[in-house]
Parts: sequence; C-alpha cells; structure tokens
Amino acid sequence: VAASGLAVGVDVGGTKLASALVSSDGTIIDRRRDDTPADDPDAVVDLVADVVTAFAARHGIARMPVGLGAPGAVDATGTVRYAPNVAFANYPLRERLEERLSGPVVVDNDGNIAAWAEFVRGAGRDARDAMVMLTVGTGVGGGLVLGGALTRGAHGYAAEFGHLIVAEGGPPCPCGNRGCLEAVASGTAIGRRAEERRSAGDLPEDSLLWRPGRLSGKDVTVAAFEGDAAAAEVIAEAGFWLGVGIASLVNALDPELVVVGGGAMQAGDLLLDPARAACKERVMGARFRAVPTVQRALLADDAGVIGGALLALDLAGAG
Ligand SMILES: [Zn+2]
Repeated sequence: VAASGLAVGVDVGGTKLASALVSSDGTIIDRRRDDTPADDPDAVVDLVADVVTAFAARHGIARMPVGLGAPGAVDATGTVRYAPNVAFANYPLRERLEERLSGPVVVDNDGNIAAWAEFVRGAGRDARDAMVMLTVGTGVGGGLVLGGALTRGAHGYAAEFGHLIVAEGGPPCPCGNRGCLEAVASGTAIGRRAEERRSAGDLPEDSLLWRPGRLSGKDVTVAAFEGDAAAAEVIAEAGFWLGVGIASLVNALDPELVVVGGGAMQAGDLLLDPARAACKERVMGARFRAVPTVQRALLADDAGVIGGALLALDLAGAG
C-alpha cells in the first residue's frame, strides 16, 4: 500500500498546523507550517487535504498514508470528541479526511503520537516494552507505551497524565478538577505561581519577576536563566510536582524510562532535577529496584509530525 515508504504527519496545534513528509526511518523529507483555522473544523480538513496534495505533487507520489495528531479526546474511530483549543466537537475527523484523500488516515491524540515518535525514534528508541511520556507545555499531555505498543484504553482516552490528581484541593485545572498535575506543573502553572508570589510580595527586591503584566512559564524560565533565584524556585516547585506525578506513574506502570517533552523543557534540568529527586523519594522500594530514568525528549517540536507519519505507515503496512 505505502509503496513509496513515505507518509505525511500532521500536528494540529491551537495556533499552528505543522506537517511533514516523512520516510519510514523517521527522516523528515519536506515540511511546512500553516496557521490552524482553529474555529472551523471543515477548514482544517481543507487545509490538510491541500497540504497532502502539495507534498504528493512536489515529490511525485500518487498515494500516501496520513497520520494526524489532534489536541483533545480522540476516540477509536478517529472522531475528535472534544478539543480545548480547536473547535472540534464530536467531529469525525478521520472520516472527513478519508473522503478527501486517497490513502489511509490515522487520527490520534497528540500526546499518544508524540510518545510513539519518542519510543520508536527518540529518547525511548532503546526501550523495548514500556515508556511513559509527559508533554509539559501550556498544559500537560501524556502518552503510554506498554508491551511495545501505544496504549489507548478501552475508548481511546487513556494516558491523560496531566489530569492525575496530585494535590487534591489545589489550584483549579481547566478540566474542572483541582490539583491536577497540569494545574501545578505546566508552563501555565509556573507563570501563575510567579504572579501569585509577586502579588503576595514574596519576591526578593532585585527579582526580575517584579515586572508588571502577565508572567508566562517562558518569562519565568528566562528570568531563572538570568540568575533570578525566585524564578528558579518557582520552576523547581513545578518540577517537584512533576516528580510526584511521575512517581505514581512509575509505581503503577513500571516503565523502562520516563520521557519529558514540551515547551516547558526549555527550563531543562531546572525542572527535571527536582522532578527526578521527588520521584526517587516516592517510588516504592526505590533502594531495591531499578528506578527508571527521567529523560528529555529528543525530537522536540518534530515528535508530532514524525509520530503521525510512523503510525500511518504502520497502519498502511498492516492493512
Ligand atoms: Zn485536570
């Protein structure tokens, strides 16, 4: 079916739609970026159809599998039940794309797709069985590989590790609960915590966080790298919660490794070292067992397009 050994991976973000033509070994042959028509699902389908047609024409390929990652709850039929940043509501995205394209189409949650890319070609490429991935950015996404395969649960909604409740009664999460991992460890949470300390006057006189206006996770990270101790503390606090969540995942799932990606990884070990320490203190029987390493994702922003293409190629090969 996939005679060319090439597939198109598409990563639908809230603002950008990234796409790439990818070979079966995960190499990106060609790529492009468009604005996501986030308020119009049919326009997303039109755009993806245009993108695939353009890649096919430019590289002289008649028919290619397509793998698309969407942010939100994607069921086993490729229907996007709900997405926080794009106007998909019970939208049969896979079906609509298959009507427009000649090759097979896979639609999956973007966290699952990033995890698959890291497992096959990234930080988890030497792992054989089990890997946990967390994507820490505006929110916290997740993906889970068990038995060498992506695990999606009974209906496709598994691995929402951002909504592990780690601090019951803690800060509110966009999902409606309180104290989710996303509410205490995301980039958004880092910015909010810095703003809280600013309004409470809980900052050293020379802190860069005194500046007026909103503080994003990125602002706090930049300040931390400029030597701001309070900013580094706020990041370490998020890292602590991340480690608490990871310890529970390790206890529940016994992965070979835990991979952390997403925009918040710009903070690097400022975030990961406290996470590693908090995790190690909480893993059951840590002195008597191998505690999985907590590693940075390797594919960065390309995990979505690479993972989508690799999943699509798997599907085409199996079909
Ligand atoms: Zn939540």
